[in-house]
Amino acid sequence: MYYLDIAVPVALDQTFTYTSQSHLAPGIRVKVPFGPKKHIGVVMAVTDVAPAKTSFALKSVEEALDEDPIYSEGLLTLARWLSSYYLFPIGEVLRTMLPVSLVKKEKLQFWLTDKGMTARDDETSSYQPILKFLWGRRKVVTELTLKSKLKKWLAETGEKMTLKKLEKVELILRESLDQTHSRSPHWTPDAIAAAQTIPASEPPVLTEGQALVCQAISSMGWGENSERKPFLLHGVTGAGKTEVYLKLIADAIETDPKNQVMVLVPEIALTPQMTRVFSARFPGKVAVVHSAMQPAERWKELSSIRQGERSILIGPRSAVFAAFEQLALLVVDEEHDSSYKQSTGLTYNGRDVAVMRAHLEKRPVVLGSATPSMESYANAKQGRYTLLELLTRANLKPLPEITFISTEVSKGFARKLSGRKTGAPIIDLPVDDKIIEALKANLAEGRQAMVLVNRRGFAYYLFSLRERKAVACPNCSISLTVHEKSTMLRCHYCDFQRPLDRMIPPDAADAYVLVGYGSEQMEMFLKEGLPNARIQRVDSDSVGPRDALPEILDNFRQGHIDILVGTQMLAKGHDFAKVTLICILEIDQTLNLPDFRAGERTFQLMVQAAGRAGRGEWAGRVLVQTQRDDHPVLKAALNQSYAEFWEDQLQFRMAHAYPPLSRMIVFEFNASKREKLLKWMGEVELWIGSKLRDQKAQFSQLTVLGPSVPPLETIRGRSRRTLLLMSKDRAQLWGFARDLLREFQNPKGDLRLRVDVDPQSLL
Ligand SMILES: [Zn+2]
Repeated sequence: MYYLDIAVPVALDQTFTYTSQSHLAPGIRVKVPFGPKKHIGVVMAVTDVAPAKTSFALKSVEEALDEDPIYSEGLLTLARWLSSYYLFPIGEVLRTMLPVSLVKKEKLQFWLTDKGMTARDDETSSYQPILKFLWGRRKVVTELTLKSKLKKWLAETGEKMTLKKLEKVELILRESLDQTHSRSPHWTPDAIAAAQTIPASEPPVLTEGQALVCQAISSMGWGENSERKPFLLHGVTGAGKTEVYLKLIADAIETDPKNQVMVLVPEIALTPQMTRVFSARFPGKVAVVHSAMQPAERWKELSSIRQGERSILIGPRSAVFAAFEQLALLVVDEEHDSSYKQSTGLTYNGRDVAVMRAHLEKRPVVLGSATPSMESYANAKQGRYTLLELLTRANLKPLPEITFISTEVSKGFARKLSGRKTGAPIIDLPVDDKIIEALKANLAEGRQAMVLVNRRGFAYYLFSLRERKAVACPNCSISLTVHEKSTMLRCHYCDFQRPLDRMIPPDAADAYVLVGYGSEQMEMFLKEGLPNARIQRVDSDSVGPRDALPEILDNFRQGHIDILVGTQMLAKGHDFAKVTLICILEIDQTLNLPDFRAGERTFQLMVQAAGRAGRGEWAGRVLVQTQRDDHPVLKAALNQSYAEFWEDQLQFRMAHAYPPLSRMIVFEFNASKREKLLKWMGEVELWIGSKLRDQKAQFSQLTVLGPSVPPLETIRGRSRRTLLLMSKDRAQLWGFARDLLREFQNPKGDLRLRVDVDPQSLL
């Protein structure tokens, strides 16, 4: 008889003991009874020594699902660390680490069609009650949820209705979850194969700087070595960091053909074009995963890495959990990017997990960025990471010159809705004439340009002059964004959307003003100002669920587009030779965000966006329209000086003891009923008060802020409160957080608790 320690995916932070007649190795998945249910768990440890007597009989494993372990010993160790660091139950950590194709999922989901949405909001429609009951305010619901709700509805009303019937009258639409993964034409099996089999290209001669950096890393060898520190590669935009990665990979594989490499990139930068650079250097050796791939394709790519058939895995943050035969090097490109952070469930940061994985497996990890995160840079300053620098561009050209354009306050920022509704040309945006002139001159020279705005949509919001407030989302405490040439209002936090004409009284257009402008309005504005230019908008609306970004970028690269206008999506890692002008508008909005990372985000955005210019044979220039041209962060970006930025923001972070001077954990409490939430918060406050009183010495270094009202008090109809814990002392912070979690996890009713370790956003 064997006794197995099994992690079960339930919200309890412990493993459970089961028995088995046969020996099952750690890392094998098993089906086990758990209460009245069956769960798929993972063997964590096995022994033939019976545990101390328990008050209940041990249950036995029903079935082993794998012959060989699906998690290596290394991955199980990583899972234990993830569970303890991110305060997330071990069973659920293991499930998060698994590729989707191995996790049982609800197979279908049902959408409300446009007709269905209209019927749901139409009191005269006979379908309104049932649609409202089944979909609530949502647009899409999974099959499982829907079926149980429908059962309830039929029982309560005694009416007859089936999902089939609703489909037949075109109120709803079914969709397989597999389809949602295969909307992108860029990640079909054929497209992946095409990107992986292209003619080999010769490596260029490295610059002296690149060669020195490679030497510093590869001189320590590729074997297991616990002395090695993580490498932080701070290289300016255009310094040729990718060539460094390629050279390191070549070295690692040359040293031992079995060596494998993990390359993490922000998903928005992970395009077929980008992977071709790797495939051309290492034909037939590259595997790629992308969230737009079908689960089966992803599994195929991951298997080729697990079985050692391919050498290089390129993927977004989740690729950090991939199983390797012999992982010898980890690379995290654009390590500062906030998309490495998962904000729900297991709130891991792919970069930090890569660093921990490298540490556990004693392998080198290289973090690369032109604008390192303050956390990583602090680690380098304190000697925990090895700092390597590439401070000139590989083509030896200067960095693009940045110029500030100061504008009058609020000129044309708010405009009467009535004017907009007549379809009059947009000539009154608060965009300085110098911007348009520069774009015209650039176009006349046959060069390309990019225009960055703060957000997508037509206008920031609609302001009622009578009520003196913005038109807000009924489910969230945030104003609705104006879309589609000011005909539609949409919430960027929930699925709420409604035609503008139905949100405001008829003929009341005079009483409303449109405030601010988004990418949509900017596109119209530019098309009117530059009638001869070929202009394309890039934001999540124009890119859409079909993942049109790679196509747009290819068209731009081939010169079929003159100007790209869009959100910060444009600033991320793309490489275009003919771009010579970048215009950054509304940067002040980013700077003004109520978040301690606002300055860092602003610096990153400006430097990264500027970095898109002048990468080819012509010099680039950058125009930044701002009213804050004396702000130290903007000045640092103007000088493209990371050192200046670092000095200024470090002072600010020190003054408030914010990260990287401390660690931070945020608890978010939410509920659909405000009174219930407030009552719960009363209990939380009491608990915290007595804890800090009774164990004063134990938590002397801990700062507890809240529970308080976050900038967005309500999201998706749920009231929220946040509790912010900070400390320089890790043991105190995690000790307190763990006790708090133990006390308040698994709350009753619809109360919910979400823990975010090292949060990237405090909204
Ligand atoms: Zn909303």
